[in-house]
Amino acid sequence: MKRIAVLTSGGDAPGMNAAIRSVVRVGIAEGLEVYGVEQGYAGLIAGRFVPMTVRSVGGIIGLGGTVLGSARCPEFRTEEGRRKAIEQMQAHGIDGLVVIGGGGSQTGSLLLHRMGFPVAGVASTIDNDLYGFDLTLGVDTALNTALESLDRIRSTASSHHRAFLVEVMGRDCGYLALMTALAGGAEVVVVPEVDVDPDAVARELREAYERGKSHAIVVVAEGARYNAAAMAEHFRERRDEVGFELRMTVLGHVQRGGTPTAFDRLLGTRAGAMAVKLLVEGRHGHIAGWLEGKVQALPLEEVVGKKRPLEPDLLSLAEVLAQ
Ligand code: ADP
Repeated sequence: MKRIAVLTSGGDAPGMNAAIRSVVRVGIAEGLEVYGVEQGYAGLIAGRFVPMTVRSVGGIIGLGGTVLGSARCPEFRTEEGRRKAIEQMQAHGIDGLVVIGGGGSQTGSLLLHRMGFPVAGVASTIDNDLYGFDLTLGVDTALNTALESLDRIRSTASSHHRAFLVEVMGRDCGYLALMTALAGGAEVVVVPEVDVDPDAVARELREAYERGKSHAIVVVAEGARYNAAAMAEHFRERRDEVGFELRMTVLGHVQRGGTPTAFDRLLGTRAGAMAVKLLVEGRHGHIAGWLEGKVQALPLEEVVGKKRPLEPDLLSLAEVLAQ
């Protein structure tokens, strides 16, 4: 292997730049030439390759987002699109690719692997919805950001005797919502993995109100059947059942941005380094991520297309603690 490329794809995540920096510098230290691909798979198909040097990744370890840019690329979902991407890489003499991204992006990298192109992944998404890993790159920062917002919301909720529906990201995975609720001391958590009856949420809020709580926080995952807007709509005519005056905050993309935490910088650094080693050592079609207290590689075939289960013990713990 002489020349590799690195791209970031799908939803950006804090720590992606640390991973890019590590891929570039470890790759160069391994005697490889390293190219960056702009705008994910769209850039791969268009041949947007940029030669990277140790200097071109200077000063980026603490930056949120991704200096290479990211994109969603419908064309890459077609075999024709993927063939074009491989042709572009071959035309540029690139014989290995590191894909930093989440479930969708890694589905794409697995398909490239199946077409015989050497790939390595870095498990990266704030949603933590990749099967097989304990934590993906960006989750720690997103969780801390969501928590900071929750703490701010609690102080105003408490002053006004209000209940807040706080919606957090996570797509179909309730991890971010559950952990935000646990670490932020929320009264109720609503996750996509459990079919929650909004009237049961109303009852819990009413009970909290009658117990004399000064406020109540409901953390709602964006992928839940009743997201924050749907829940607020459901409660609109039922104010008396809830007790508290109700407000809603959708945290949205603030959770994606910002300075990566120490954990995410270290995870990006170590997983990026492992991805290069996987390519160099010929362990193609693997993905690096955080598992059982260290960075480990799993075959993409074992990771892609499966649903990450939510830990039921933690869900019950959140319920017990919300008193
Ligand atoms: P994430 O990687 O954060 O989960 P997406 O699900 O949006 O983000 O996927 C990012 C990109 O990965 C898509 O725009 C597409 O180019 C590629 N991709 C996603 N799913 C597939 C698939 N089933 N087959 C091929 N490529 C895919």
